[in-house]
Amino acid sequence: MDNAPAPISSLLSGARPTLSFEFFPPKDDAGFETLRSTFAHLQKFNPDFISVTYGAMGSNQDSSLAVVQEFAGQVSTIAHLTCIGATTATIDALLDSYSAAGVAGILALRGDTPKDFVGNPLGDFRTANDLVNFVNGSTFEVGVAAFPEKHPESPSLAHDLEVLRIKQESGASFAMTQLFFEIDAYFDLVSSARDAGITIPIVPGVMPIANSKQVLRMAEMSGAMVPKALVDELNSAKDDEAARTIGMRFSAELTKELIAGGAPGIHIFTLNHHKATSELLEAAGLA
Ligand SMILES: Cc1cc2nc3c(=O)[nH]c(=O)nc-3n(C[C@H](O)[C@H](O)[C@H](O)COP(=O)(O)OP(=O)(O)OC[C@H]3O[C@@H](n4cnc5c(N)ncnc54)[C@H](O)[C@@H]3O)c2cc1C
Repeated sequence: MDNAPAPISSLLSGARPTLSFEFFPPKDDAGFETLRSTFAHLQKFNPDFISVTYGAMGSNQDSSLAVVQEFAGQVSTIAHLTCIGATTATIDALLDSYSAAGVAGILALRGDTPKDFVGNPLGDFRTANDLVNFVNGSTFEVGVAAFPEKHPESPSLAHDLEVLRIKQESGASFAMTQLFFEIDAYFDLVSSARDAGITIPIVPGVMPIANSKQVLRMAEMSGAMVPKALVDELNSAKDDEAARTIGMRFSAELTKELIAGGAPGIHIFTLNHHKATSELLEAAGLA
């Protein structure tokens, strides 16, 4: 890319839905090679932007920066950034590195304490909104997380909406959702957000169901409901290949319905592999 990346919010407000991919920082060189190959394969779909996740509280953060540095010159890149346990000095230094790499936006997140962590994480930030405030006013556009089926710690969807509204007021200009499989949860979130005065685009995150056991585990961890009819169908599949066919068909239908219903874009959780993402895009007519 020769010029400054286009603002993510303007891409999301364009005439056609955007296409974007999420990658995570690999743990080793072999994982990095896989990611490079995935990135190269997915270029044929002409993504509008990509995003790169960032481990909370120290896990794999250097690798995240390395991925951002490698790809941000080739495609508009959103760097996820978690603030739990972080100091303003470390975040400032990272923002300098992201700025030098040419990232388009920061997805400002709180993150979660690792499972084996005991006590209260020290640091200068309490919630993601503290990070939104900290990053806003720098050169970056700021995005935030949204939860179609409620954040696991939140008392209600209404509380989540209030948190999202505060983040918009603090300068967030787009939101990206947690994975979900109940399409109504996404459209209800968007409609309630609009009623609450939240105007920023809310991009749905789509997880291709290629490995149903893995995806059902992730759904459980994130609190995403899986439609009973789909669970029954997956459970009655005669083998893994049959389950994959069922899962991928469901994911393609979900994607088509999201676009038909007016979603501003589709953000695919690639899990750093290109096969399922490519199949999903072809089946959904987005290739
Ligand atoms: C699209 C997406 C990408 C993600 N990427 C990453 C990643 O790269 N790395 C990673 O570690 N994790 C990632 N996560 C997970 C995320 O960090 C966790 O879900 C985390 O628990 C919440 O993050 P948040 O930014 O929503 O936090 P917050 O907005 O701080 O919310 C956390 C909890 O605090 C409550 N809360 C927030 N503000 C207030 C307030 N002012 N008053 C009262 N209650 C409040 C909220 O209701 C919620 O229950 C991602 C999640 C999503 C949806």
